[in-house]
Amino acid sequence: MSELAYPYEAPASQALFDRAAAVTPGGVNSPVRAFRAVGGTPRFMVSGTGPYLTDADGREYVDLVCSWGPMILGHAHPEVIAAVQEAVARGTSFGTPAEGEVALAEAMVERVAPLEEVRLVSSGTEATMSAIRLARGFTRRTKVIKFAGCYHGHVDSLLAAAGSGVATFALPDTPGVTGAQASDTIVLPYNDLEAVHAAFAAHPGEIACVITEASPGNMGVVPPLPGFNQGLKDACAANGALFVSDEVMTGFRTSRAGWYGVEGVVPDLMTFGKVMGGGFPAAAFGGRADVMAHLAPAGPVYQAGTLSGNPVATAAGLAQLRLLDDAAYETVDAVSAQIQSLVTEALTKEGVAHTLQNASNMFSVFFTDRPVVNYEDAKAQESFRFTAFFHSLLSNGVYLPPSSFESWFVSTTHDERAVQRIADALPAAARAAAEATA
Ligand code: PLP
Repeated sequence: MSELAYPYEAPASQALFDRAAAVTPGGVNSPVRAFRAVGGTPRFMVSGTGPYLTDADGREYVDLVCSWGPMILGHAHPEVIAAVQEAVARGTSFGTPAEGEVALAEAMVERVAPLEEVRLVSSGTEATMSAIRLARGFTRRTKVIKFAGCYHGHVDSLLAAAGSGVATFALPDTPGVTGAQASDTIVLPYNDLEAVHAAFAAHPGEIACVITEASPGNMGVVPPLPGFNQGLKDACAANGALFVSDEVMTGFRTSRAGWYGVEGVVPDLMTFGKVMGGGFPAAAFGGRADVMAHLAPAGPVYQAGTLSGNPVATAAGLAQLRLLDDAAYETVDAVSAQIQSLVTEALTKEGVAHTLQNASNMFSVFFTDRPVVNYEDAKAQESFRFTAFFHSLLSNGVYLPPSSFESWFVSTTHDERAVQRIADALPAAARAAAEATA
């Protein structure tokens, strides 16, 4: 699609994108930001307030990405900003222990019962990478089960994907990941417990852990079928493996205690990021104290970080968690439900086949009339309709994730005015989706 195919222009963003492309691969620092799945010019944002983002051309958007999850209180929440300003005035990094990291860890442990101990890191990728290393060190086994369509950051061994069938070793999914790294990863179809049992049977005593998104949001929103997570936990327990629940996206978003708070399945290890950092690079992994005791300096499994537990990031995360009480989740859940109904209503009115799926306040639309329970189902949707839908909304001031394989996120600040803007933009977007051709 050429630039001219889009009904509006973004000259300031385009100029920045051209500058960026000269010094940064693909012009972005994280691939999905480049709009490659939908085409067009990525919007360079200059500010965010509550539910709105303003781009370099001065256009305002209702933000349904919320920085891919973290901004659950909206952009520039005054109390979070005040906490950051207070922290930053005391210095930006000490390289020593500091009280803020203790307070953040305490707040997390208080909210999530299976989290007995927690180690802070700087990104979700680091959290899953470290959790896998710890699981391997603890069990003294090498293999890891993951599910196709689940994203756990760009950890080498977890980028292996799409090996179908039981006990199929995945091929490296990207150049730079070695065959050895990929061959320790067993990729199975999501929501398929039989495949998990068969993999354990085929590799007795070899599997260190099963890692899964607590409720996946990286192939669009595909919640676990009833009993799936418990089945994983039971299979792990029966086979001496650890159950690692990746709550980087769901943690402190889908409830006060994340997806654990919704479903109650107790993992051995958990990973967190996004919301707990309040928009700063803070993430964590944790869980059973006897497993965490294997981590350096208490135990032999090495893990470290210059900026881990950074005082500014922990201040932002702690301020955000303190504000996230039951009322805040009720607000986010209610506005999410309202937007979900508006989307369904608009698409139904135009006769567009779609399935809207949610995991509490996380949701996404699949352009198919069939329920989506795994990655194969997600890939079978008519993504070209999403492209038309996305660009229509963007041109009318609503910012969706630029891919049909991503969750949409809302915040406590998505008020009536923001919802009305979405409602006003939806009819044209639904028409565009209906008229789209492959
Ligand atoms: N795990 C999950 C479930 C995620 O959604 C993500 C990022 O989207 C990650 C891990 C990686 O986190 P980060 O991007 O902070 O490295």
